[in-house]
Amino acid sequence: MSEADVFYSCGSCGYPLNLASSNRVTSSIGSKYSKSIKKGYISFLSIDLSRFTQVDEVNCLPISWAHHGSKTKLLCRKCGVLIGYGYGDSTAFCGLDSPTSSSSSYKKIMIKIRALQPSEDRLSLLARYGSNLQSLHLDCCLGITDHGLFFVASGCPSLTILSLYRCNVTDIGLETLSQSCFGLKDVNLSYCGLISDHEAESCKLEPEGIMGIVSGGGLEYLSVSNLIWCIQGDGLLSIGAGFATNLRVLNFRLCRTVGDETIVAISKGCPLLEEWNLALCHEIRVAGWESIGLNCQNLKRLHVNRCRNLCDRGLQALRNGCKRLRILYFTRCRLVSSTAIEIFKCLRSDVKIIEEEIMCIAPDWAFQL
Ligand SMILES: [Zn+2]
Repeated sequence: MSEADVFYSCGSCGYPLNLASSNRVTSSIGSKYSKSIKKGYISFLSIDLSRFTQVDEVNCLPISWAHHGSKTKLLCRKCGVLIGYGYGDSTAFCGLDSPTSSSSSYKKIMIKIRALQPSEDRLSLLARYGSNLQSLHLDCCLGITDHGLFFVASGCPSLTILSLYRCNVTDIGLETLSQSCFGLKDVNLSYCGLISDHEAESCKLEPEGIMGIVSGGGLEYLSVSNLIWCIQGDGLLSIGAGFATNLRVLNFRLCRTVGDETIVAISKGCPLLEEWNLALCHEIRVAGWESIGLNCQNLKRLHVNRCRNLCDRGLQALRNGCKRLRILYFTRCRLVSSTAIEIFKCLRSDVKIIEEEIMCIAPDWAFQL
């Protein structure tokens, strides 16, 4: 099995079923295959019988005695939930299968897709290789739960950036994380629906933390998106205080509490800024937008998606300033009128308005270990 294999666990209890994605039957891809996919089943070449309880659906005669077309239920050995069916010859007896057998002789094995979840055990590799890892993106890994976070916490003590966008983690997992990963600065928890309290005390980004990152002065890329961790004000003021004069790419996406004072300081203090993601920064008002227009003369890409307090005057300020601006990512800014957008388009034909929200703006050169 290759390193890239995905292993599946029981969708109900998480018990590892040892089903590897590479063991799927893909030779018959075609109408038959897509038909079974549509029904919610995928076919496997072989399965690890020690992980399943087998129950003959018709009677308790050994399957090999039965005629063709016999059907055996494959249940999760731990919780007993139905995972799929085995068809045809098998050495299995009703409920008396050998726990040591490691392969099956079913002619056909159909597994219910919805009964599975990707196994997180792959994350256990982090214990071996993750000690120097600083940035980890697990975006949209729906199978990642607290169990997986435990591997992250124990394996990656140097982690500073962690994205868990749409993962199924809870407060408990975050607690584990905060007890091991003391360097965490950026944790993306967007759409982690199971987290009850976004003000959790478990891990916070303090102003000193930001000071620590930017004090080197050489920093060119900084992402502090989703700043729900910060307790004191917006805490980002220090970025603009002359410590990050080389900053070129800055991600403030989802920093809902960042206010004008910080925006003004940064727009003055970071003259080389080329890309700035301010999506969902609801507290930026006219003063902030005016300062960006006036001071950000190297800005080429600006993200203002869903900024609640971007209004016509704010957009006008961006239009009149930001002379190098080429791309404006702009969606759902409710205070901006369609007239203001039309005027912007007329007067700034050099700027492309892209109606799209970009999640990650890390430049190619970032995160190379
Ligand atoms: Zn189970």
